[in-house]
Amino acid sequence: MRLKLGIWGIQPGYEIILEQIGVPYENVSENTNITLENYSVIIISEIIQESDKQVILEYMNTGGSVLLNARCWANLYGKKLKQKKVRFLISDNNSIYSSLGLVDIYTKISYVNSKELGILDEGLGIYHTKIGKGFVLIFPFDINSLILDTRSIRKRFYSERKELPSEIVARVSKGKLRELVRISLGSLHHKRGLPFVHKWYFPDSSENVFIFRLDTDFCSSHQANNMVGICRKNNISATWFLDTTSEERLHNYAEMKDQELALHCDRHLVFSDYKNNKKNLEIGRDKLNATGIEMNGFAAPFGDWNPELAKVLDDLNLEYSSEFTLDYDDLPFNPFINGKFSKVLQIPIHPISLGWLRRSHFSPKEMLNYYLKLIDEKLYLYEPTIIYHHPHHEYLNILDKVFQYVNKIKVKKLTMNEYAKWWKMRTNTQPDLYFEDNRLRSNIESNDISLRITLEEGSIITKFNKMIDLANLRFIKQKKVEHQHDLKRLRKWCWRDILYNYESIRGKKKK
Ligand SMILES: [Zn+2]
Repeated sequence: MRLKLGIWGIQPGYEIILEQIGVPYENVSENTNITLENYSVIIISEIIQESDKQVILEYMNTGGSVLLNARCWANLYGKKLKQKKVRFLISDNNSIYSSLGLVDIYTKISYVNSKELGILDEGLGIYHTKIGKGFVLIFPFDINSLILDTRSIRKRFYSERKELPSEIVARVSKGKLRELVRISLGSLHHKRGLPFVHKWYFPDSSENVFIFRLDTDFCSSHQANNMVGICRKNNISATWFLDTTSEERLHNYAEMKDQELALHCDRHLVFSDYKNNKKNLEIGRDKLNATGIEMNGFAAPFGDWNPELAKVLDDLNLEYSSEFTLDYDDLPFNPFINGKFSKVLQIPIHPISLGWLRRSHFSPKEMLNYYLKLIDEKLYLYEPTIIYHHPHHEYLNILDKVFQYVNKIKVKKLTMNEYAKWWKMRTNTQPDLYFEDNRLRSNIESNDISLRITLEEGSIITKFNKMIDLANLRFIKQKKVEHQHDLKRLRKWCWRDILYNYESIRGKKKK
């Protein structure tokens, strides 16, 4: 039995998610031999022609598992579709999706009124049913268009207090949708009595990674040196995105041999056109090179992103970039721009900095708790822990305590460039997986990349071996995670959002 997904109508948004999850997949069509042996799950992402429906119906009826959206379901069975516009959905606390909480989608959701469908998660509008011997899971939205969405908006982030921090970030919660697909694929495999197997997200079977990003934003050499002192005290090599306006400060950075140095900006702006972005980045790069600093990465001012900037990053052959208006709180991916995938890896971060916590009147104790909680949360959401800071905001004693916690829980500490390099190797490792007699067979042996295997009863992270006997593994039961009950308040109208948006526009005009 081969463990591989077949996608009917492959689309870049789905490709992004499936590469992130790290599961083998391929495009299928009416000419493919779609059998239970060949495909562990079929994803239908486009309308199927009348003449081709029989192939899919046969796969389902004989015991296959299928994932599709309500529009494709309605088409398959000639049902009527209802639609409504929503900004966000909140998962049920008693469903397999309970850890997701609030998912921003800003789109029309579709659903069919049909008695044969059971509710899998009412809040998310996800339905399921049995067809013959097979299982079907139905999403109310189109994953592809949501993942390719590039709009941004100010969002507030959760904390157990009244005033909440906010930032302008990607409108769609892409990381949540990716996790929603992973949970769904797991469930559809388990329904068939199959393990769900995907490449693990972090090197060396580590439970998580910790990456500390600094945007220098014209801080003094004194502030930078104090910051690097706290990093060194805790054995942390941070990734510094440098502004390049002062030669004297660049020479100071060049001395930080144990830190990763990369580019933030010359002028602290992202332009809407190619030419000005290219000029700004080239000036910055040349100044870094003149000081003996080689750089592989870039993080845009204000986390701003647009396709013209992305083209410049591609043309400058950068390894990676990091912009939270494109995506945040998610795994790395290659953005899809103007009909093709960018070569520059996008590394999403958690977008709330200490500066924002200060503006939202957090006490130092609340600031520390915000980050400690975030680190714990990242462990059960299986998202890399990447936080960022501006050295001129200082708060060194808080960061010192955050770093101490990171060292205590022993997550793997990396720079952005190290994670980008590893992630590229992971992407290039494309296994063939087979499951027979409770054994997993693959064509790959690796010490650097691990596999995560999930069964109905639990999961395990294990080294990539050509033969893995599941009977020899101890599967660990998944901890049930419930989300907060007052998530709706995150998206209620708030006068502060208007004020901050106004300040943000004014701040960019002054530069
Ligand atoms: Zn900045």
